[in-house]
Amino acid sequence: MSGTLYVVATPIGNLDDLSPRARQTLADVDLVAAEDTRHTGRLLSHFGIKTRLLALHEHNEKERAKKLIDELLEGRSIALVSDAGTPLISDPGYRVVHAAREAGITVTPVPGPSAMTAALSVSGLPTDRFCFEGFLPAKKKARRDLLARLSAETRTLVFYESIHRICESLADLEKAFGPDRPAFFARELTKVHEECIGATLGQLRQHADSGEIVQKGEVVLVVSGTEIAAGSTIDVDWLLDELAGKMPDKEVARIVAMATGEKRNKLYKRLLERASGPSK
Ligand code: SAM
Repeated sequence: MSGTLYVVATPIGNLDDLSPRARQTLADVDLVAAEDTRHTGRLLSHFGIKTRLLALHEHNEKERAKKLIDELLEGRSIALVSDAGTPLISDPGYRVVHAAREAGITVTPVPGPSAMTAALSVSGLPTDRFCFEGFLPAKKKARRDLLARLSAETRTLVFYESIHRICESLADLEKAFGPDRPAFFARELTKVHEECIGATLGQLRQHADSGEIVQKGEVVLVVSGTEIAAGSTIDVDWLLDELAGKMPDKEVARIVAMATGEKRNKLYKRLLERASGPSK
């Protein structure tokens, strides 16, 4: 009989957040597949667990997936963990889980911490519908294009971000979504220096620019979705410029109308006029 693949969430800072079931699973399985064996080795030794470790990271996942599936088919059980939080959430593991399911192997979650849900749960922003965008692109143009496309999103948005890019990213978020959009900044969740700030995007950008935000640690940004239409502070011309040419004009008009409350037909006409150049 095949073994079971357990997808095990581990703490995002506070070791007491390792659930008793996660701890037991890590101790009981034949093998722990870990993103960084040294990092997970420290977690295991803290809890007195001696299970064998195998490295499974972004760069070897494809090739390692086959070995792990063979081990599972031979009846051994495996726990998949990442450095922190829930594996596969902006972390490796997708290929292994996919391959295991294809091979008819039982895949079981051992749920627990994730920075995404931790930040969202204390943000005070709407949680009934949200979208997780993972890491914002590091390159300025890709980031701005993505944010322009997301400016009409009505669900709460969750982003992972590097603290080193926080000033640039908040400036781009403010530009794309307007300075008054409610947002939430969460740094070092569950750790000694946990810091949470609920403010508008404009205020957060000012905090970051003035150096009030400590440039250290791990960050989640949560941003309220757009309240469709009335009172939008987004610059219509800027958004038209950002989106024009990247998708059909009708789609641009639809997104800009949703984000700003302007009439779709009027925007479409404006796009056609822009394309045909200044009128004489
Ligand atoms: N799989 C993890 C999870 O479930 O949260 C996320 C892994 S991703 C590679 C790492 C990113 O998660 C960090 O760059 C940061 O954006 C966020 N993160 C992880 N731990 C955090 C913490 N304690 N406080 C705030 N953000 C955190």
